[in-house]
Amino acid sequence: MQKINITSIFQYIALLLLIGNMSYTAQLHASTSPKIVATTKPLHSIASIVLDGIAKPTLLVSGEVDPHHFHLRPSHMKLLKNADIVVFLGGDLESYIPDALDAIKLDSSKQLEMISLEKMIQLPYRKEASNHKTHEDSHHGHGHHGHGHHGHGHHSDKNSKQSNIDPHFWLNTENARTMAQAMAQKFSDMLPEHRKKIEDNINLFYKEINKLDEEIKLKLQEVAGSPTGYITYHDAYYYFEEQFSIQGYSGSIVSAATHTTSAKRVRNLQEKIKEGTVQCILVEKAGYKKIANLFPEQENLRHVTIDPAGISLSEGKSLYYKLIEQMRDGFINCLQ
Ligand SMILES: [Zn+2]
Repeated sequence: MQKINITSIFQYIALLLLIGNMSYTAQLHASTSPKIVATTKPLHSIASIVLDGIAKPTLLVSGEVDPHHFHLRPSHMKLLKNADIVVFLGGDLESYIPDALDAIKLDSSKQLEMISLEKMIQLPYRKEASNHKTHEDSHHGHGHHGHGHHGHGHHSDKNSKQSNIDPHFWLNTENARTMAQAMAQKFSDMLPEHRKKIEDNINLFYKEINKLDEEIKLKLQEVAGSPTGYITYHDAYYYFEEQFSIQGYSGSIVSAATHTTSAKRVRNLQEKIKEGTVQCILVEKAGYKKIANLFPEQENLRHVTIDPAGISLSEGKSLYYKLIEQMRDGFINCLQ
């Protein structure tokens, strides 16, 4: 009995020491480690790669949250306010960020917006595959028509802030290199003592991405020439398809502008399936039940799950690689 008590006293003391030590390191950490916030998972992953061994960036849109349906809360505002640097995609997917950063008066030197980088490959929203038939959808967004058709004057609806640029640009690995490069520069300026490590980190990233690119090209050759047409839940893959010359896109179930569908849209797609020109749907976790009902899996129509924003992947260094591998596998499975 006596012995046990002594042991617990020792354990108690050890615990006290541990707590003391922990708060000491926490303080040290707080005073030396830069507070870098990245908005979405792919971006946060690249930031984690660039800062490997130096600092751990914080993810704003964390958990299994769809960046298309994200709303800032006070806790997010606090994160942004306390940040040394906020790294964000910008564009239609994050149109709320510039406003938020304005509201908290975050100095522009602390902001790093990706979509506006000079080297960024930007694609306009893709015209709907069945553009003329689904014209009624197009009125909700600017993207489907060039500037010339309507002009901007009469757009006073709530989407009037929408740009012409498809916001899924992280799915082009060339753009990922550009993002890593811009972060490396920004972080090196802030942490000049880590310049060398940051350089090593992005060189490793380039190497891994080059390897993935080559692998994707090789594997896609194996399914090239197969006549498979496919449709997608939402039109998120233009950058990936463009980079790797993937053919067969035949439309999306929800419109890019509103993320909703219409009876006419569904009918058009069902028609294509009936005609046999579409053999696969790239589905997402979002809205899957509805899709499964509208376009049930059958002998000549496969469902392949894909996750373009990496929502279901765990955040961190390896996420971006896993995301691109998952794109590769999704398309291979769909096209074969
Ligand atoms: Zn999207």
